[in-house]
Formats: sequence, C-alpha cells, structure tokens
Amino acid sequence: MNNRDYLVRAMLGENQARVIAVRTTGVVSEAQALHGTTPVATAALGRTLTMGLVLGAMLKAEETITIQIKADGPLEGIIVSANSKGQVKGYVGNPGVELDLNAAGKLAVGQAVGRGHLHVIRDMGLKEPYHGTVPLQSGEIGDDFAYYFTVSEQTPSAVLVGVLVGVDGVPLGSGGEVVQLMPGAAEDEAFIASLEERIQAVKEVSSLFAGSRSPEEIVQEIFAGLELRFIDRRDVAFSCDCSRERFSRGLVTLGAEELQEMVDGGEPVEIHCRFCSKRYVFAIEEVAELLKELGSTRA
Ligand SMILES: [Zn+2]
Repeated sequence: MNNRDYLVRAMLGENQARVIAVRTTGVVSEAQALHGTTPVATAALGRTLTMGLVLGAMLKAEETITIQIKADGPLEGIIVSANSKGQVKGYVGNPGVELDLNAAGKLAVGQAVGRGHLHVIRDMGLKEPYHGTVPLQSGEIGDDFAYYFTVSEQTPSAVLVGVLVGVDGVPLGSGGEVVQLMPGAAEDEAFIASLEERIQAVKEVSSLFAGSRSPEEIVQEIFAGLELRFIDRRDVAFSCDCSRERFSRGLVTLGAEELQEMVDGGEPVEIHCRFCSKRYVFAIEEVAELLKELGSTRA
C-alpha cells in the first residue's frame, strides 16, 4: 500500500543538492472535504498545504511555520500553518471561487490567487519570528516558492507542486518536490545542467502522485542516473490543534465588557475554526462562568 501520504528527504550527487518530496493526496482530500473547496480553490490550497509540509520538514523540533498569501484575486488569500512533525492545516478566503480553465486547459490557480505577496513567518519559540516576504511571481504557488527560496533564503531552488482534481471535485493526486542546491554546488555547472534537464522533463507533477508509485520511486524516476541517497522519511497529515479549551481562552481575552454583552444578548456563542471548519458552541451559562472567572482573577 503505497498511497499513504508521507515525505522523504534525499541527497543528490556528492551531497550537492537536497530533495524533499511529499505525497499529499490524503491531506488535500481532507482539506477539500472540510472546506468544500471548488476545484480551483482545492488546487491553490492543496499546493500551499504541500509547500507548508516541505517548509515544515526544514524546521527544528519546536518551530512552526505560517504561510500567508495576500493577494487581490477572487480566492481572497491563503493561510497555511505547519510544524516539524508533519502536521499541516490551512484555508482560503473564498472556498467557492469558480473560474474557467486557463489557456493551457488547466485550473486557473494564478488567476484565482491574483497579484500580491507571499509571506513566510517562522516561529522559533522564544526568539523573534523570522519573516520573509516576496512579491508573487505568477500566483501558481510553485513559481512563487521557487522565487522565495532563491531570493529570500538565498538558496537556488526548483519547485514542482501540483494537485490533480477529478471531475467530482475530489483530489486524485497531490504532491510536491523541492530541489535545493547546497552551498558550494553552484560551481558545478555540469551537475546543475543535469538537474535542470531532469526537472524540466517532468510534465505534470500531480499525475505522478496520482499513481501508485511511492515518493521514493518518483524521486528515483526523476533523477535516474544521478547518485541518490534517502536520509529521512516521515508521515504527514492534515491536523488542526483547535480545541474547546483554546477557544474558551480566546473568549476570555475579549475582555469583560465584550463577554457581558454576549451574556446580555442571551444567545449561545458559536465560534467556527477557520482552519478546520469545526464549530464550538458556548452556552450562555458557560460565557457567564468565564466572565465570573475573569472577575475573580482581577479581584
Ligand atoms: Zn480547527
């Protein structure tokens, strides 16, 4: 059974380049079901979730990463958050966006995203978060991340990422692959040329991941003939860490005045998690209890 979602890391040549490849068909299917995204929104969110997992694999243990795509297209932006444990979550501003296929007969992801910026915020716990921003290149996500790695992180990189959506709107295949030159490899022109040739030969990354081939087999196939050494493999999943507890703490931070207004309103308070669409309902008695606690901690 090779259709499971997981991520692999490998070194190419004499450690001249590193590869991260991940199958995300299950992750993107779950996101599609939770958010009810249209095919073009599924492709845009799925590509970004895939990149979130790739960036997550580059983090240290307790770090997290947030990707924000702020742009003027009808998708109304994308937010994805991932950690180093292979967990990712995310949503788009407008999951119902409908667009015709683009001139190449593909889902018009770039058009849905529009023009704007890609922000990457790496939270390292106690230290100040690292924040990198680049203008979007095409809004097709892969190009935008290749530009981000090359310009903002100064690591020459190639990005292949794609989501194949079936006629019923369910993702059939999704995955991505990032190839990055290691420091010092930039002088080896023959090696770089052979990498570029192989990457350009990949016609459709999403259909590679739609088949039964494992991420390892896909990497081996793309880089056939080059020395390849796998160094790591980890499971990945769509996972939201929201909880009733967390949202009740969030209610408390609104302050006494706001909570009092809710109690006076007399209606249960419904909160909806944007990342996973889960709904939490707080009865008026519970809100009153939170208000009481807030009063007693103040006193
Ligand atoms: Zn959630």
